Amino acid sequence: MRKRHAARIAVIYAAIAMVWILFSDGVLFWFGVRPELVPSYSLFKGLGFVGVTSIALYTLVNRFAYEVAQREQMYRELFEQNPNPMWFYDLETLAFLRVNDAAVRRYGYTREEFAQMTIADIRPSEDVDRLMENIELTRAGAPGTVDHAGLWRHRAKDGALLWVDITSHLTTYEGVSAEVVLVRDVTEAHEARLALLRYQQDLERLVSERTAQLERLNSELRAATDAKSAFLATMSHELRTPLNSIMGFSAILRDGMAGPLTEEQERQVGFLRSAAEHLHALIDDVLDLSRVESGREPVNLAEVSLDEVVGLVDAGIGALASAKGLSWRTGPVPARTILTDARKLTQILLNVAGNAVKYTAQGEVRLDITTEGDTLLLHVRDTGPGIPLAERQRIFEEFIRIEPEKASAEGSGLGLAIAARYARLLGGTLELTESSSAGSVFTLSLPLAPHMDAAAGA
Ligand code: ADP
Repeated sequence: MRKRHAARIAVIYAAIAMVWILFSDGVLFWFGVRPELVPSYSLFKGLGFVGVTSIALYTLVNRFAYEVAQREQMYRELFEQNPNPMWFYDLETLAFLRVNDAAVRRYGYTREEFAQMTIADIRPSEDVDRLMENIELTRAGAPGTVDHAGLWRHRAKDGALLWVDITSHLTTYEGVSAEVVLVRDVTEAHEARLALLRYQQDLERLVSERTAQLERLNSELRAATDAKSAFLATMSHELRTPLNSIMGFSAILRDGMAGPLTEEQERQVGFLRSAAEHLHALIDDVLDLSRVESGREPVNLAEVSLDEVVGLVDAGIGALASAKGLSWRTGPVPARTILTDARKLTQILLNVAGNAVKYTAQGEVRLDITTEGDTLLLHVRDTGPGIPLAERQRIFEEFIRIEPEKASAEGSGLGLAIAARYARLLGGTLELTESSSAGSVFTLSLPLAPHMDAAAGA
């Protein structure tokens, strides 16, 4: 900058001198001065030259000084009024040479105190070694290279620890080799980041604790379910033998093989027999359920004709419906087979349609079969009382009956639980898809080509 200005002045000076030397005599002729008088005008020419060049030099130097002062003022303001702390320090002694207002405000030291300190004095003692290593690198650097020194810890006068992001570069300050430093205080952002990190670690610990807890709980639950299934299976088995005796002996009594019965005795034996049959059905259900829960229920996949299945359901439900005065209908049956376990599919439909007949006082129960893509949909509709919204999931749980005290129908609360578990075993679902005071629709969805593992899992 300085060199450019000096060169400019020299060029302008040389140009004026040349013009003067080459043309000043010509100008005199032009003004009509006679040639013999020209030499006596040389003194005035010389004085004129000195006058013109002095004015030109004064103007140029003055303008140059003004520009330099302007630039200096700009840099001073940039330094002094910078909202970020800035300072110059001596690269040899590390002493602060000059600090700005923001540094005084942020660090709490006065300018006089700064003047007595080195940059090591604002570092926590454990960081000083790293600082010295960094200074060595800085000293080796080329002047003017901007060095982004990264994240450092500084200590303010009141002992507060500040996290700062430092950018610096080599310069000279009043003839001394120095480093000018710009400090960005990132304490808040850094602490927020640390807090976030701590929070994240806490969260991870909490999640892994909860996962472990859940896994423990899960295995306890599994053990409890296994124990319950084993207990139910054993008990049901044990109950079956005496129950078979009760049914056998009541048949002997009913058939008069132990002698003739009075009418009243025959009625009582009839009660005995139907109570035993009810108990027998209940035990069968419990056994079915415990087999599914313990994963011991086998799935026998085969190509099954839908016609055959509907025929079996028809035979079971038709008689029940007509005994109650209900109409029982089946929609058109697709003429196709499905790869499934026929016994389980029939059992699901018998349970669901049996319920429809059981809980419907008048109207009709019907079975409709449709396909949707790769899924077979079997809808059992009735004109019964419907199921309250809040109970729509619960009815599939075992031993759950809705308002059994109001229901006239007998039941154990196992029919839907078994049907839903069988549906899952077949790779499908059983859902209550519609329900209102006008009736209910239960839908069994089955894949037309089940994957073997979906069909094998409970
Ligand atoms: P339950 O042996 O009581 O019939 P389920 O598991 O088969 O046991 O059914 C559970 C409950 O769901 C029943 O007690 C009954 O309240 C209700 N429910 C089942 N099917 C119907 C239906 N079609 N209409 C009205 N309520 C039904």
